[in-house]
Amino acid sequence: MTDGRSTPAGRRRLVLFGPPGSGKGTQAQLLGAQTGQHHLATGDILRAERAQGTALGARVGGYMDRGELVPDEVIISVMAAHLQGLERRGFVFDGFPRTVAQAEALDSMLAAIRRPLQAVVVLEVPAEVLERRLLGRAEVEGRSDDTPETVRTRMRIYQESTAAVLAYYSARLPVVRIDGDRPVALVHRAVLQAVGISMPDPG
Ligand code: ADP
Repeated sequence: MTDGRSTPAGRRRLVLFGPPGSGKGTQAQLLGAQTGQHHLATGDILRAERAQGTALGARVGGYMDRGELVPDEVIISVMAAHLQGLERRGFVFDGFPRTVAQAEALDSMLAAIRRPLQAVVVLEVPAEVLERRLLGRAEVEGRSDDTPETVRTRMRIYQESTAAVLAYYSARLPVVRIDGDRPVALVHRAVLQAVGISMPDPG
């Protein structure tokens, strides 16, 4: 078992895992910008499909607006298409996998290109903080799935599926838990440290 510390930062292969509102999108983006790892966010990919009015976008819209998971076979085929080119790059998955079926599918897709995952980073944030953040974000960004009812559904689904996904990974990979209830820059440093990427002192 290797956590990839000997792999150059830009080529490391990670999953960033955490509840809705935990800041995994922000952290995955910061990490990708810092290291050159490719940042793949399923929520962003699906929202772009909807914005472009594609058939896929139409298919997933209802699930997203209700805060439910898009069916595994749909999300797995979307991600299969986005894995092209990852043979040569490191990556951070954000929002995927969310179920054991997705984790298994990802493992076999990555095994086929000989680029297995190296670590999973989990952002932990108390439920009441998440709720406050998501409802605050709704006012600023106007995301159609940040209403109180959808937020509750997304949190419930996360809680229902998390344990199984983390158990799946804990048996296979280093799973590093980080306190996400801190300022963005501090969480970023903790993420870098967790995956063994050194960063210059802010000075
Ligand atoms: P959040 O994690 O804050 O709920 P995302 O932007 O990651 O937001 O996802 C938004 C929505 O996109 C989810 O509520 C779900 O409907 C859909 N989605 C994203 N990733 C997945 C996935 N791996 N499996 C199923 N549905 C997904």
